[in-house]
Amino acid sequence: MDFLIPEEIKKICTSLQSAGFEACLVGGCLRDLLLQKEPHDWDITTSALPKQTEEVLSKEFYCRETGIQHGTITVFADNISAEVTTYRIDGNYSDHRRPDTVLFTRNLTEDLKRRDFTINAMAWDGTLTDPFGGQKDLSSKIIRCVGNPNDRFQEDGLRILRALRFASTLDFFIEPKTAQSIHQNRWLLKSIAMERICSELLRLICGEGAARILDEYQDVFFVFLPELLPETKCPQNNPYHIYDVWHHTLKALENVPPTPDRRLATLLHDIGKPSCHTTDKNGIDHFHGHGKAGVSLSQAILHRLRCPKKFSDLIVSAVHYHDILYTDDEHLIRRRLQKLGEPLFFLILDLKRGDTAGQNPLYFSRLEELNRIETHAQKIIAEGNCFSLKQLAVNGNDLLNAGVSPGPQMGKILRFLLEAVISGQCANTKSELIQYYQTNFSEDDLL
Ligand code: ATP
Ligand code: MG
Repeated sequence: MDFLIPEEIKKICTSLQSAGFEACLVGGCLRDLLLQKEPHDWDITTSALPKQTEEVLSKEFYCRETGIQHGTITVFADNISAEVTTYRIDGNYSDHRRPDTVLFTRNLTEDLKRRDFTINAMAWDGTLTDPFGGQKDLSSKIIRCVGNPNDRFQEDGLRILRALRFASTLDFFIEPKTAQSIHQNRWLLKSIAMERICSELLRLICGEGAARILDEYQDVFFVFLPELLPETKCPQNNPYHIYDVWHHTLKALENVPPTPDRRLATLLHDIGKPSCHTTDKNGIDHFHGHGKAGVSLSQAILHRLRCPKKFSDLIVSAVHYHDILYTDDEHLIRRRLQKLGEPLFFLILDLKRGDTAGQNPLYFSRLEELNRIETHAQKIIAEGNCFSLKQLAVNGNDLLNAGVSPGPQMGKILRFLLEAVISGQCANTKSELIQYYQTNFSEDDLL
C-alpha cells in the first residue's frame, strides 16, 4: 500500500515523526487506499498540538490554521494538501451536529473512537491501527458505527446520511443495529443544515447502490423529501408500466449516467404523477400533464436543498419537458436543440433512456431509437448546422441594411428566418435569408 501514498504526504508524516510525535494517515484516505482507490483528500492525525504541528511543518511547507479550535492545520505541499489534526476527544453535542468542546489527547485510540464508522476509524503509520475491526468490515462490505449507533447518531445527525452515502457509493450493506438506528433516528435530520444534506444526497444518488439504498431507507429520505412519498402509493396500471411510480423512478435512476444532474432529474421526473393520476372506464391509469405538475414540486425541493439557480433551472426544465416528443427526424431534432439548448436536450435524452429502461420491457426497442437520435443530434452539432439565433447567417444589422426599422419586430423576423432554416425551407446564407424575408414575411407575422 505504501507505494500508493504520495511522497509529499509521507514527508509530512515523517517530519512530525522525526520531531518526536506520532503521525498517521487516518479516515477516508486510508479506507480508500485499502480499497485500492485513489483518495480525493488526505487526513493526518497526530499527537502534536496544533502549535507544535505548525512549528514543525512550517519549516518545509506552507501551513494555514483552518480550524485551530478543533486542532486542524491545512498543510500545502507542491501539488497536494493535507489536513493535519491533533488527536482529540469530542465533548457533548448539544446541537446534534458539532461538539460543544474538544479535548486534545495523546492517545490515538481515543481519537479513532470519536469517528463515525469502523471503516473510517483506522490509522496507518507503516502499521495499521484498527481497534474496531474496520478492515474486516471493509472486506465484508459493511458499514457499522463505532460504538453505540443511537449515541453516535444523536451526537451528529449528519452521520445518518453519511452512512447511507457510503453504503451507496461503496455498494456496502449497513449492519443491522446501525440500520435499525438509522430508521429510528431519522427525524434528527430535521436539525441538519440543508446544504450538508444536499451535498450528501447528490453523492449518494450517484453511487452504485443508490436505488437499493433509496428504497430500503425511503422513510429517511422522505424526512426531507416528503413530496416523493405519494409515489410509493401510486400504481401505474397501463401497458407501458410494470412498476408503481416510485419503483419505476428507481429503475430509471439506475439507468442514467451517475452525474448529479442526471440522477436528480430522474429522481424527480415523475413527482407530478400522483396528483395527475386518473383511471379510465377500462381501468387504465393516465397521468396527463404530470411534467407540468412536477414543476412547482421540484422547484420547492431544489429551493429547500439550496441548489444553485442554474442547476435547479436545468433540473426543473427536465422534469417539465421529459415527456416531450423525441423522434429520429432531422427537423424535429433541430427544433428541439434550438428550443431546449444542448445541455437540456441531452439531459432529457438520458432521462428518456432511463425512463424507458424503467418501463415494460415490451417497449425496450425505443432505446435503439433514442441512440439513433443521439447520433443524429451529435452529427447536426458537429456539422455546425444552424439551430440557434447565434448561428443564423443574418443579424439585426443585416436587417437594418435591408430596410427593417429598429424595434421588437427585429427579433420576430430573426426567429421567423431561423424557423425557415430549421425546417429546411431556406439555406443559412445572408443573401438567401434576406431574399426569403423579402418574399415570404408578411406584416401579419408580426401580430
Ligand atoms: P470522503 O472524503 O469521501 O467524503 P471521508 O470519510 O474521508 O469521506 P471526510 O469528511 O473527509 O470523510 O472526513 C475524514 C474522516 O473524519 C472520516 O473518515 C471520519 O473518520 C471522520 N469524520 C468525518 N465526518 C465525521 C462525522 N460527522 N462524525 C464522525 N467522524 C467523522
Ligand atoms: Mg475524506
